[in-house]
Amino acid sequence: MKNVKMTNRRNFLKLGMKASAGALALSAIPVQLLAGDEVAADEALAQAMGYAPDAATVDTAKFPKRAGEAGANQFCNNCALYAGTADDETAPCSIFQNRLVRGAGWCNAWVAKS
Ligand code: SF4
Repeated sequence: MKNVKMTNRRNFLKLGMKASAGALALSAIPVQLLAGDEVAADEALAQAMGYAPDAATVDTAKFPKRAGEAGANQFCNNCALYAGTADDETAPCSIFQNRLVRGAGWCNAWVAKS
């Protein structure tokens, strides 16, 4: 029985050490990667998603979702994933790990705000 208690205590201490190491590793991540910096159109994920800070510049041949009359009304600031108001110049977007995107922008993940 004593061995079981010792094992549990040892496991608990090991778990605590791992949690501390994890917290230390997280604190080493630059703050700008967590939030606050703006997505640039030339980043790999932005290019894959067809993100443009100015929706008028989207290549509609490559991203036909933004083509036509319906597409012309799609902007980040009326997208369900835009964590800001329609008047905000920039706001966090969950597709880009809550980094900032332009309200006048667009990407292929656009979905209408309900
Ligand atoms: S998911 Fe929506 S808010 Fe985010 S970049 Fe794409 S269109 Fe903009």
